[in-house]
Amino acid sequence: MLTVQKFGGSSVADAERIRRVARIVADTYDRGDDVVVVLSAQGDTTDELLEKAVELSAAPGARELDVLLTTGEQVSIALMAMCLEQMGYPVVSLTGWQAGIETGDTFGDARIQRVDTERLLRYLRQHRIVVVAGYQGITADGELTTLGRGGSDTTAVALAAALKADRCQIFTDVDGVYTADPRKFSHAVKYEEITYDNMLALIADGAQVLHDRCVLLAKQYGIEIEVLSSFERKPGTIVRG
Ligand code: ASP
Ligand code: MG
Repeated sequence: MLTVQKFGGSSVADAERIRRVARIVADTYDRGDDVVVVLSAQGDTTDELLEKAVELSAAPGARELDVLLTTGEQVSIALMAMCLEQMGYPVVSLTGWQAGIETGDTFGDARIQRVDTERLLRYLRQHRIVVVAGYQGITADGELTTLGRGGSDTTAVALAAALKADRCQIFTDVDGVYTADPRKFSHAVKYEEITYDNMLALIADGAQVLHDRCVLLAKQYGIEIEVLSSFERKPGTIVRG
């Protein structure tokens, strides 16, 4: 069984949280699954990098912005791999380009066009946990790109589709998809299941729990997404057709 698990920025914000996520990944591996982990940049790293850019340039160029922004996720994957290694697990971290994620050339909002799974499959055959940087890829010309804010979700679904994964789990700081933002509205109710189209409607209304392109891709490839909490081990919401 191949499981793709994606963890958002708040889930890997500091060493303690990285350890907690590593435990979830390790438990999945111990159950006998092959595991591909997709990570976002730690905490508010992406916003902080954008602030650094505008300190130096009123209008930073899109190419250089992507060179800058891709560093955030690279920090997360290295730290996670070190943590899992320390725990005694075989693991390898891969940037988007090392993982074969080829995109179009719209810097800052690139679409994934192809995933060359050769290297990923090689490491999975060696029973290593593969930790991939979300939100990034490379063009056919070798330029670094990012997928648009929140794009790590899309990386997870694209890898699940390309690798024909059995499960795609997106771990976040809420424990599922709610009728309204549960961090703001106490009357919000959690969905056990939601269709792709209803999820897209919630996103159009401002829900930020999943990236819209990730849901479109999941719908296109029939990938079931499970949205669940990094902090509490309980069932989340299934997004499906
Ligand atoms: N780090 C990127 C962002 O903050 C991508 C992501 O988190 O999905 O938008
Ligand atoms: Mg997100």
